Amino acid sequence: MRPVILNTLFTEASTLPGVGSRMKALLSRLAAGDREQGALVKDVLLHLPSGCVDRRAMPDLLTAPDGQVITALVEVEEYLPPKPNTRQPFKVICRNETGYLTLIFFHFNENYIVRELPLGQKRVVSGRVERFDSMLQMAHPDAILLPDQLERALRVEPVYPLTLGISNKFLGKVMEAALARAPELPEWQEQNFREKHHWQGWKAALAHLHHPEKAEDAAPVSSTWARLAYDELLANQLALGITRGLVHQKAGRIVAGDGRFRERLVQSLPFSLTGGQQEVVREILADMASGKRMLRLLQGDVGSGKTVVALLAMLNAAECGRQAALMAPTELLARQHYARLSAMLEEAGLLMDAPLVFLSGRDKGKQRQEALARLADGDVLLTVGTHALFQDDVVFHDLALAVIDEQHRFGVKQRLALARKGTGTDILLMTATPIPRTLTLTFYGDMEVSTLKEKPAGRTPIDTRIMHVAREMEVIEGLKRAVAKGNRVYWVCPLIEENNSFPLEGEGKPTAAAEARFAVLKGAFDSRVGLAHGQLPPEKRDAAMLAFTRGELDVLVATTVIEVGVDVPEATIMVIEQAERFGLAQLHQLRGRVGRGGAQSHCILLYSAEVTETGVRRLSILRETEDGFRIAEEDLMLRGSGELLGTKQSGMPGFKIARFPEHGELLLAARDDVKLLLAHDPRLESPRGKALRTLLYLFEYDAQMQYLAGG
Ligand code: ADP
Ligand code: MG
Repeated sequence: MRPVILNTLFTEASTLPGVGSRMKALLSRLAAGDREQGALVKDVLLHLPSGCVDRRAMPDLLTAPDGQVITALVEVEEYLPPKPNTRQPFKVICRNETGYLTLIFFHFNENYIVRELPLGQKRVVSGRVERFDSMLQMAHPDAILLPDQLERALRVEPVYPLTLGISNKFLGKVMEAALARAPELPEWQEQNFREKHHWQGWKAALAHLHHPEKAEDAAPVSSTWARLAYDELLANQLALGITRGLVHQKAGRIVAGDGRFRERLVQSLPFSLTGGQQEVVREILADMASGKRMLRLLQGDVGSGKTVVALLAMLNAAECGRQAALMAPTELLARQHYARLSAMLEEAGLLMDAPLVFLSGRDKGKQRQEALARLADGDVLLTVGTHALFQDDVVFHDLALAVIDEQHRFGVKQRLALARKGTGTDILLMTATPIPRTLTLTFYGDMEVSTLKEKPAGRTPIDTRIMHVAREMEVIEGLKRAVAKGNRVYWVCPLIEENNSFPLEGEGKPTAAAEARFAVLKGAFDSRVGLAHGQLPPEKRDAAMLAFTRGELDVLVATTVIEVGVDVPEATIMVIEQAERFGLAQLHQLRGRVGRGGAQSHCILLYSAEVTETGVRRLSILRETEDGFRIAEEDLMLRGSGELLGTKQSGMPGFKIARFPEHGELLLAARDDVKLLLAHDPRLESPRGKALRTLLYLFEYDAQMQYLAGG
């Protein structure tokens, strides 16, 4: 049971003053991660600033420098409304004894202006100023306050990652309310370690981060942030440690088939396995045949041929009359895996001997009941599905092997749930994201790693070009010719979230770029164009992708939803628009969607006019190499882990606080800390152990806690 002391943190954020139902939904989108329930108070507290604005400068208005953020106490002198039916802004002339300041409002609401800035009254305004012809202007002040609130305005204000519809001001208020509710928690860090780093306690650190005294206080490298990052890493490593204990404690079972199914499969393949594939299969079979439980990660770049490796391992289980499951992070991917495995099994004449079913969250009713029944009585040996396979009503007769594809989209939490599905189930994780050593540690702990380095022979390298967006028409003409010859094209657009505290109707929709591009290309390609992005209903998105797969569409305009695993061998061209906005590793992942058949494939990286010279140079790494590991390392050096893994903000998936490379050292420290701790206090019963239980609950490793409690 979660300790009572955490109760306030686990209440819904909608209980905070000012959070109505609309804000509740927006806050959840912003801070709740993949939690289905809405955002909690703790989610708000752990929504950390992305930077600060220093509002303490009060320069003379006459000489205030262009571009500075200033705060000024001024008198409202005159309104200058725009001429009717123009798109001009509304101007408000203000002054004080040091000079004039013109406030500018675009898309204004006059009532608001009259209410907030009454003529002849004094107000405190704060915001960034610009100079036009020696006139000092401030467009949309960030704050308009009464004169007696001047002290409050003169501060270092944290700036939060936002979503459309939530302003920084609103979030700041919600944050205050959340901070007021934060309890003092028992210290779970080791005392000497904490003193050595001069770290504050948990609550003090949190408060400091949200009330920075100087800009550096709210940066990931600050000691306040480091303390909180260490907490998160410690919880992660501890949870992994406990999970590992569970995995190894239940002895594995010997799964060593006679090879009869595998042989038939290998015979029927239209290719022979590469040396790398054979070696990796050997490693996996050796693990499965040992009495120890397997916990192995299979890393291999996109197109390196992991699927057939997985199938061979699954057939090994089937040869023993035991079950194996393959799980993918999305419905589409799972279906694709299902189609491919079915085809391979059919080709090998194995569908009768090793029957395969599909299980998804979307299937309901009779179909699902039937699949569940067949899994439960062991009639079906192989299954492919989404996370629906983790659910409580899924019971396996005898699950020997679980293969999890694209693992970093699942967390440590689900992994434990899965490990408990069978007795001594072997686990094989597969990822196409090459992960540098440091990061492997967080996601996988100290698990065994197999790597597929070479790609299957006969692949033609992808011809990658980097072009200025001005050549767009030329590119489209080229695509038309290619499509006429039967090629299919992906056109990828970036997601752009506007961090605007004055969101305007219809602007800043993150998928706007894709929608606009879709409209343009539809004209150019006779409407044989589809659109797939994350804000479309899943059915619509899947339908577009399916139509593209079937060749009913020539062009698929998409956001990064196509990044993972979609396999259309006829797609030979990928255009990526505003390529400079993507991380290199992400571009590499995207590019891996083409070049899957035998034909020559092309990738065109279009960069926009605003790109820097370094930006273009960065892109050229992709022209030089197709080595995913090299690209990942370069990317990590250049931009940090968030970009590497293609997440929106600069954190890591599953991590709200810790950053890489900034906190790499702390990760190693946390690992050592946990090793020592679990050796002495494996059930977390010492005083520090008890405090650590609170930490685990705080980061929602409830499953690990249940297990510790003897479940
Ligand atoms: P991954 O899942 O690692 O991205 P896949 O398993 O989807 O890669 O394999 C990509 C393509 O390569 C598939 O079409 C597959 O049939 C093919 N392939 C796999 N192994 C080989 C091989 N040894 N020789 C030739 N083609 C192969
Ligand atoms: Mg794959």
